[in-house]
Amino acid sequence: MINKIAVIGAGQMGEGIAQVFAMAGYQVQLIDVSPAQLAKAEKGITQSLDRQMTKGTLPLSVKEDALKRLSFFETIQNPETIGLALEAVVENFDLKTQLLQDLDAQLPDAAILASNTSSLSITTLAAATKRPDRVIGMHFMNPAPRMPLVEVIRGQATSETTYQIIDHMVRALGKTPVLSQDFPGFIVNRILMPMINEAIYAVHDGVATPQDIDTAMKLGTNQPMGPLELADFIGLDTCLAIIQVLHEGLGDEKYRPCPLLIKYVTSGWLGKKTGRGFYEYAG
Ligand code: NAD
Repeated sequence: MINKIAVIGAGQMGEGIAQVFAMAGYQVQLIDVSPAQLAKAEKGITQSLDRQMTKGTLPLSVKEDALKRLSFFETIQNPETIGLALEAVVENFDLKTQLLQDLDAQLPDAAILASNTSSLSITTLAAATKRPDRVIGMHFMNPAPRMPLVEVIRGQATSETTYQIIDHMVRALGKTPVLSQDFPGFIVNRILMPMINEAIYAVHDGVATPQDIDTAMKLGTNQPMGPLELADFIGLDTCLAIIQVLHEGLGDEKYRPCPLLIKYVTSGWLGKKTGRGFYEYAG
């Protein structure tokens, strides 16, 4: 029975995922190389729980218990006690491979290694470890506390036992799992990212302003957020990384990343997290 979790990477996804596990009763260590990011995550989780309390959807005791189950470190403490390590570091293959190898060396043999990757091959990441049968994709949506879906991705070597443990765990978190086989972008990003890329091409070609493109897609296709607003929210660096994986992995020119997206990412305009993307964000 897994009770102790390490979430590696305290960015927008790691923060939300750590909150979800802590609220479901797991002891969670949230790990990041950046102390500033850890402090930001701790503040973010407290504010998120406070908002739910103010709305009357969360009793004080649940908030306090969740916060007690969370701890924040630059490296994993007592690795021998960890049953699941879930990585949510930046979408970079070399970085994730190195991290999984480090986790493989540190954690007990029975521990499961999960990746929140949006697009990278679970089979390839798993092959870099000595426990490919205990490596799996656990792809939370953003923001993790609010979004009900988790894509569970089986790599070529993922065992049935690992899959069953993670499928049950996702349900115990109050989320709905869907099973995806290991193809670039899995289900959601295979369909979402070409739409976002096409919206960026529409800006690039001068079809319309970002505002009008988003308004058209919200009011014309009943989407809660327009594709450019959503791209800013996800992070334009993350969007570019995913589109590149689709382009390389599926070998079809229809996934070619829009040059405007590359230009924004090169300029450091990464969307909401840096204050500028297709829109500007104050504060
Ligand atoms: P982010 O840039 O907000 O956060 C990444 C964090 O990883 C940073 O805090 C960074 O300091 C930390 N980090 C980098 N190297 C590290 C290391 N070696 N050890 C520990 N921490 C390290 O990124 P994000 O948006 O949270 O995305 C994280 C992962 O989740 C990516 O794989 C991404 O594709 C995936 N994802 C993102 C979204 C989204 O909407 N942004 C949705 C689902 C999945």
